[in-house]
Amino acid sequence: MLLVQKFGGTSVGTIDRIRNVATRVARAKSEGHDVVVVVSAMAGETNRLIDLAKSAVNEPDPRELDVLVSTGEQVTTALLSMTLLSMGYKARSLQNHQVHLVTDSSFTKAHIKRIDAQQLRGALKRGEIAVVAGFQGIDEEGNITTLGRGGSDTTAVAIGASLKPYAKNNLVCEIYTDVDGVYTADPNIVKDARKLKRISFEEMFELASSGAKVLQTRSVLFGMKFDIPIHVRSSFNDSEGTMVVNETNDMESVVVTGISYDKNEAKITVIHVSDKPGIAHSIFAPLAEAGIVVDMIIQTASTEGYTDMSFTVPKSEMKPAMQILQELVKQKKAIYVVGDEKVAKVSIVGVGMRTHSGVAATMFKALADARINIQMISTSEIKISVVISEADMKKAVEVLHREFGLG
Ligand code: ADP
Ligand code: ASP
Ligand code: MG
Repeated sequence: MLLVQKFGGTSVGTIDRIRNVATRVARAKSEGHDVVVVVSAMAGETNRLIDLAKSAVNEPDPRELDVLVSTGEQVTTALLSMTLLSMGYKARSLQNHQVHLVTDSSFTKAHIKRIDAQQLRGALKRGEIAVVAGFQGIDEEGNITTLGRGGSDTTAVAIGASLKPYAKNNLVCEIYTDVDGVYTADPNIVKDARKLKRISFEEMFELASSGAKVLQTRSVLFGMKFDIPIHVRSSFNDSEGTMVVNETNDMESVVVTGISYDKNEAKITVIHVSDKPGIAHSIFAPLAEAGIVVDMIIQTASTEGYTDMSFTVPKSEMKPAMQILQELVKQKKAIYVVGDEKVAKVSIVGVGMRTHSGVAATMFKALADARINIQMISTSEIKISVVISEADMKKAVEVLHREFGLG
């Protein structure tokens, strides 16, 4: 069997922990498995490097930022490989150019285009443990790129996909992290959150894309597309974690599987725009051109031909978005634009929502009873999200966790 074992920052945060990881990797190898290891930077290192860049210049150039932050992962590959070698195992560190992990050129948020798995296959055939740097890639010109925060998860699942033919479908991608699986809500926020034995790719995708950072969203998409079983588990114990798998019929009997929150979005409201065809386009086209991703959108009922338009953007994009929208004010197409950073999005997710009705009503009543004001709502087939004040976020997650019987 091929095991792709990914270890997150906390799991490789100190030399002792790297030794612990080496022991676990060595055990898998001794049991006769082919092992590819993907590592993150040591805990806090990526943040430290980003801060370093920001202390050098106000707005670091994205290409140079990627050159800088990718070093975190390189350090871990070397430390883990030398530890494995000293234990008598054949191990070899491999960086982005060596595993030919090719991405587009969107520095700091690159997408993987392909992986030429030849190097990895060679290493495995020689009986080596391949220790691969997560998070990083190279573009077609050979520039170093990175895959966005949490990107090592995606490296691991994508490597699994590229080795699937070699492994003759007999593989698992193990994501080792600081919690022992995927929970009904972030266990660091909700005390009685429960570990899930299994979760469907689709539910995991919705949870990840609405803030649950236990897996990077794109890693779930790779898993879904290439049918790679993902096992999320702890690097500190041997207990079974959570399997992310294809949906089965019985999954729909549970209405809500999990709750997520996201503090990384800000709300922008464009006040008093005339309510006529083309107005939404004139607001959102310049934002799209600037590469700003808009999430939830609501337009209030129009009075006397005027309306307000609210929407959310990533917090880091609030300032540039507001600057762009000032153009509308200058052209007298709106009176003014306000931004609110003190908001949070809370989402409930479950494939059971497809077949159960009244889920939204239950959610809204629970929030109303807790005196939490809802500012925005959006729904999809298996997810309902609300934007509320950031101060109410923890309470909202707890209330909903209780209301849907998840504890
Ligand atoms: P790593 O460094 O190993 O990649 P991350 O910090 O990226 O770890 O992801 C693990 C964290 O995800 C946990 O510590 C937890 O706070 C958070 N998390 C959010 N939602 C969930 C959830 N539903 N289940 C488990 N963990 C969650
Ligand atoms: N080190 C990178 C980060 O902190 C990637 C990862 O750990 O997945 O975002
Ligand atoms: Mg992570």
